[in-house]
Amino acid sequence: MEVNKMNSKYEDVIIGLEVHIQLTNLKTKLFCSCNNEYRGKEPNTHVCPICLGLPGSLPVINKISVEFATRLALALGCDINESFWFFRKNYFYPDMAKNFQISQYNKAGGRAFADGGKITIKLNSKKKELQLNRIHLEEDPARLVHKGSIATSPYALVDYNRSGVTLIEIVSDPVMNSPEEAREYLKQLKSIVQYTEISDLDLDGSCRVDANISIKGHARSEVKNINSFKEVERALKWEIQRQKNLLKRGKELIQETRHWDDKRRVTIGLRTKEFEKDYRYFPEQDLVPIEITKDFIEQVKKKLPEMPNARAKRFQKDYQLSEFDSEILVLDKDIADFYENGVKSEKSFGPDEYKQYCNWLMGDISRWLNENNNVIKETKLTPKHLVDLIKLINEGEITGKIAKTFVNEMMKGTPILEIVKKSGKSRIADKNKITKIVEEVIKENRDIVNDYQKNPRALEALIGKCMKKTKGQLDPEITRKIVLEFLKK
Ligand code: ZN
Ligand code: MN
Repeated sequence: MEVNKMNSKYEDVIIGLEVHIQLTNLKTKLFCSCNNEYRGKEPNTHVCPICLGLPGSLPVINKISVEFATRLALALGCDINESFWFFRKNYFYPDMAKNFQISQYNKAGGRAFADGGKITIKLNSKKKELQLNRIHLEEDPARLVHKGSIATSPYALVDYNRSGVTLIEIVSDPVMNSPEEAREYLKQLKSIVQYTEISDLDLDGSCRVDANISIKGHARSEVKNINSFKEVERALKWEIQRQKNLLKRGKELIQETRHWDDKRRVTIGLRTKEFEKDYRYFPEQDLVPIEITKDFIEQVKKKLPEMPNARAKRFQKDYQLSEFDSEILVLDKDIADFYENGVKSEKSFGPDEYKQYCNWLMGDISRWLNENNNVIKETKLTPKHLVDLIKLINEGEITGKIAKTFVNEMMKGTPILEIVKKSGKSRIADKNKITKIVEEVIKENRDIVNDYQKNPRALEALIGKCMKKTKGQLDPEITRKIVLEFLKK
């Protein structure tokens, strides 16, 4: 029911996304040798005549940018164009010192970096292939800093450190039909980008999304500069509602550019949409055409790691995990690497432990990471921690319940045996010890024991009392047996 309701809510919605990704793993900018890493640096210190657009300066292409774009194109299954040249996209705005952005253009004889490609998503356990239009390289504009909201700020500050940083723009076809599909699309894209090792999308400002949204048969609006993947779903929902409300009131929609205000969580009309001709695209004469040989592509291909889709299939085979588990596990490359390092390091592990290891990673560990807004490589948890933990549980040294209380200490890097020792929480399986505790509990809780004749559930209450006395250390099976023996007396 829920699913049907959702489909009908959005069945006439059309969404296309333009995702800008900064290649944060580069050392230098796209056309100059300025340091690419501008975050946390003094404003306007990572600049030179080229990225400031001073007259007479000449841009030179960063070869590694081209290699990174090739990696992404291969990973997304795009067709790479063997030759292309850059274009000037003209517009007048303070974030662009030259008054044009060096970009690529797929018309007027120009070509994108690569055409086509696809991203496969899964929603409500249904797979859908989302067709990409193209990907291209371009330079990032400077960073504008506003006081408060962009709409009311009395001034804008410009930091040119970001100017000229390499962006890859990934343009989808208008093939998404709900904000949820867009969210899944971005989740998969983020994963693929992580696997290609071209960018760290967890860095603030490393991705920006422009979303084209329309209701079938009506003009579309373009919501610009949604500054994180998380915000996209929210912005789309809001914008769809706005358009539907207008139509309901009998108004017609206009083609316009809107801005997502992530503080007020609304879209604001900025200007009616500029049309492509307003950008006066023309070839960038200061850069030579780029040729990409088959040989170069082959070399890049060889260096590419296994991609998440293939890896999920292999995880099902190698570790007998379900399709569901495998697909979630491979999404974050660091988690998947951690998993493989762990399960491969212990020869005695088989399918049961593979599943246990997966459950720990996707359960308690992921929950801890979410709650602490952290990523696994920033913690001191090692693959061996989980190996040791699972072995102790399976050997009966600690109960699974107690193991869960170790997570905080584990994340600090404390070895498992040390945690067990410090906590004094190893499992108690010794019959004599358990009998003594049961005896005490029976003595102290005569009323519950008497209640047992009428109410068999009093058994659970007594077991609970035993557990409470020992902070959950008693082996539950043995304890149950001994309490029952006492009750029969
Ligand atoms: Zn520069
Ligand atoms: Mn762009």
